[in-house]
Amino acid sequence: MSQIPERVKQWMPAHLHGLEPYDPAFTPCDTILSANENNFGVPAAVRDEMLAALAGVEEMRYPDALSGELRAELAAWHGVEPANVLVCNGGDEAIFNFFLAFGGGAKLLNCPPTFEVYELYGSMVGVSAHNVWRDPETLRPRWDELLAAAPSCDLAVITSPNNPTGDAVERAQVERLLEAVPGPVLVDEAYAEFTGAGQLAAGQPGTALPLLAEHPNLVVLHTLSKAFGLAGARIGYVIADPGVISALAAVRQPYSVNSFSQAAALVAVRRREEFEPNLRTLLAERSRVQRALAELPGVTLWPSDANFFLMRVPGAAQLRARLRDEHSILVRDFSAKPGLQDCLRVTVGRPEDNDALLGALGTLLG
Ligand SMILES: *Cc1c(COP(=O)(O)O)cnc(C)c1O
Repeated sequence: MSQIPERVKQWMPAHLHGLEPYDPAFTPCDTILSANENNFGVPAAVRDEMLAALAGVEEMRYPDALSGELRAELAAWHGVEPANVLVCNGGDEAIFNFFLAFGGGAKLLNCPPTFEVYELYGSMVGVSAHNVWRDPETLRPRWDELLAAAPSCDLAVITSPNNPTGDAVERAQVERLLEAVPGPVLVDEAYAEFTGAGQLAAGQPGTALPLLAEHPNLVVLHTLSKAFGLAGARIGYVIADPGVISALAAVRQPYSVNSFSQAAALVAVRRREEFEPNLRTLLAERSRVQRALAELPGVTLWPSDANFFLMRVPGAAQLRARLRDEHSILVRDFSAKPGLQDCLRVTVGRPEDNDALLGALGTLLG
């Protein structure tokens, strides 16, 4: 995608002049470990039912605007009311709508290096970020500074586990943040299901959700793009106070979630426990891959509670290019980002994906 030409920029408001079309830097490869997708995909039996459900969709009708059945199923799973849930066109839509509803002119407490989408979407609707950078060594949030800055900000976002650093946040810290920030706090839990085994059955994957009853400014974000292997269906959801849900529903495009995706997601969420065996394998693979990489010269790793991890290695950008060009393996390069010099983000895949990665890195670094 080419950049926006100056003659078109002059039609755009000045605060949007710095934007560029999103480039996922995707190259078709045999082994894709760059986007934190679930390479196991949807279990075959669940997928069969999903395809049958798609055949029953009445595509000539507008979708159910609030994804009623899916909303009820998600609410039952998490032990909340349907009024606490809003289904969105991916977590991305939820993040955008969060800023649209609450962000105009506001100051956002942000904790980079983190998901860049927050600052990007915020900037589009006049949000300015107050960045409290993570500790440069551990890459964990500096809680004293975050909490000290919180009262002078209007809203906050914290990511647990964080992308791209992989660390989860303690619930007690989230609670302090909810008490210190005067406005809504988005807790992005896109990777919550990877924080430990058994999360799908338990209903409350390593989450801040239990804080909702006491803290109506808590806005929890989940997605089916990661653990559920449905990145292509674009389904995310917010769990929050019904008043917050109303505000998010008021700014959204009413039909943003299409009927096919609603039907597929409903099957996946109903049969969520069938995703558990692959999740357990993935967690074991995360340890196996990290142990093996720790043996390679020059490699630094950060512990991860997600389905990916960050590694630092000299010449990271060149290494990433060689993985892609010589071994057809795609990982994500963060080495040019502030605070992440020489860092690559690696998604944990199926055992065969991970074997390919370990073999290639053994050759390139060994
Ligand atoms: C992947 C991701 C999301 C949501 O992705 P969607 O595909 O839009 O649901 C949200 N937050 C973080 C931190 C992510 O990595």
